[in-house]
Amino acid sequence: MRFVGITRLAPSPTGALHLGNARTFLVNWWMARQAGWRIVLRVEDIDGPRIKEGADELAMEDLRWLGIDWDEGPVYQTQRTERYGEAIERLIEGGYSYFCRCTRKDIELAASAPNAGDGSAVYPGTCRDEKHGTGAVRFRVGEEIVEFEDGFAGRQRFNVAKELGDFVIRKSDGTAAYQLAVVVDDVEMGVTEVVRGDDLLDSTPRQMLLYRALGWGEKVPRYWHLPLVVGVDGRRLAKRHGDTRLASYREAGVPASRVLELLARWCGMEVQGRVGCAGDLLRQFELGRMSREKIVFTADDEAYLRMR
Ligand code: GLU
Repeated sequence: MRFVGITRLAPSPTGALHLGNARTFLVNWWMARQAGWRIVLRVEDIDGPRIKEGADELAMEDLRWLGIDWDEGPVYQTQRTERYGEAIERLIEGGYSYFCRCTRKDIELAASAPNAGDGSAVYPGTCRDEKHGTGAVRFRVGEEIVEFEDGFAGRQRFNVAKELGDFVIRKSDGTAAYQLAVVVDDVEMGVTEVVRGDDLLDSTPRQMLLYRALGWGEKVPRYWHLPLVVGVDGRRLAKRHGDTRLASYREAGVPASRVLELLARWCGMEVQGRVGCAGDLLRQFELGRMSREKIVFTADDEAYLRMR
């Protein structure tokens, strides 16, 4: 098979896949299989304390249960720490980064620190002149506007310095931070297409700055950021909304077809007849039919899934 692009499915084994993650993966898979993109499965397991033993295997089992497959991998981020280290070194040597020993508390206490997209305070730049040291390493964000065209969310424009600030690329325990690892991986795996949740929309301009600083400006992929699934309270799907883990439905004997039907409805599809696996809806899927609003998981949805 000849592929015309490369994408990745990148579960974080910090817990089980729930309906929200599943929807994003399913859309990514449909897009890939329609367009002819190669799919790499990448396990994003560098988030030390939050990683759960066995969650990687479980995620793969969940994906297979829905009929989602991949062409390469799993590739584990924890096996690639040397590559991240090299990129971090380059960014330090090139003057793009500096050492930072501030604690979260220090940053919050710094006067007038505005809030970054993720709710944390924008880093006030206290350690900007630290050329040597240990601990965390931050990327120095210049005064510029970063713009990109998102395939789903449309035109995006960020004043990264003001809205997000200098960000961590190596954590104080010496491990690579998400933003850095993803860029190194995407470049090395030749990823050209990224489909992910729109909670990561404001990570994209930061990642674009890393591409440029590392001399990979030509390799920035295309992005599609999809709305998340939320509960009726408008908050991102989580434990408080009940047990929406795919594994929980599977264990309760809910057929994959029913989960697929719900996910398909959440993608604007009218499903007729029984859906055996993700592939059965491949030809029917249209990105243009997907709502731009957040998807709300309701009590009716739950009842539908669990009905006998
Ligand atoms: N591992 C991330 C997640 O599960 C996805 C990161 C990415 O797609 O860049 O949310």
